Amino acid sequence: MTIRFWGVRGSHPRPLLPEEVRSKIASVIQRIRTVDLESPESRERFLASLPPWLFGTTGGNTPCVEARLSDDTVVVFDAGSGIQALSAAMQRDYRDVQHFHVFFTHFHYDHVQGLPFFVPAYNPNVKVTFYSPRPELENNLKQHMQHPYFPITMDEKMSNLEFVVLGEGPLRLGNAEITWRELNHPGTAFGYQIREHGKTFVHATDVELLESDFEKTPENTRFFQGADMLILDTQYTLGEAIEKYNWGHTSFSLGVDFATAWATKRLYLFHHEPLYDDKKLHKNLQSARWYANRLGNTTLQIYLSEEGTEVEV
Ligand SMILES: [Zn+2]
Ligand SMILES: [Zn+2]
Repeated sequence: MTIRFWGVRGSHPRPLLPEEVRSKIASVIQRIRTVDLESPESRERFLASLPPWLFGTTGGNTPCVEARLSDDTVVVFDAGSGIQALSAAMQRDYRDVQHFHVFFTHFHYDHVQGLPFFVPAYNPNVKVTFYSPRPELENNLKQHMQHPYFPITMDEKMSNLEFVVLGEGPLRLGNAEITWRELNHPGTAFGYQIREHGKTFVHATDVELLESDFEKTPENTRFFQGADMLILDTQYTLGEAIEKYNWGHTSFSLGVDFATAWATKRLYLFHHEPLYDDKKLHKNLQSARWYANRLGNTTLQIYLSEEGTEVEV
């Protein structure tokens, strides 16, 4: 399966600020030497040598992750503002998708606010199935899309919708098996796991990890052990996580402990704190890698979830 990040920020959208753009340009200019400008190749080499926080950005949209299964089934996790970017890409690149499967972790604003701008849902030839273990799924989504919050309702304009309340599971889609479990978050969120062709992908946001999440129970083991790719809410530094106890999010260092405990292969830091700029996020990434190293975990690979990137699982 292929995972694509369309929205990676937590809490609220976080555009790149004008002063940040100015500061990035100024920093790049300071680094250029005459020799870097000599040819198209030297210019390319110069750009490639820039640190990622300078040449690019992590992204400011709220959560939306696509998992494209091996048979081209499109699974989407959450409809944060990133779903608008997914929607635009669908129109640009692959118009042929006839059925979207959209799973909700929970219904906080940052996970539903892009839904009115999910253009494929307005096409009667495209079917959209929404999933959540919450019985109030349909009601929650419809309430969010009505006057005075939005000028048109789902019932008026989105004609080919299906609402599936998930029971015990698992659910089969194509060759994949999808399961879910509760996560510790105000009002409860749900994590999802996809297994396909012997590979395991786990999507775990929003969550403030508990001691019980580390216990080697059969349920935890089945869900977390040995994931090939784990997307984890690691919004905070350790200091902030202590300050913001019970806010429902995890520190990146506890995330590394967790990935180590469950022998995760690739950990993607996710649900980035909107107060952090690109430099700070990359600093956190370096600290997370340093910490994994200190723990003696040499097999864990750690990355930042970055908008627009894709990963093969
Ligand atoms: Zn969130
Ligand atoms: Zn939340």
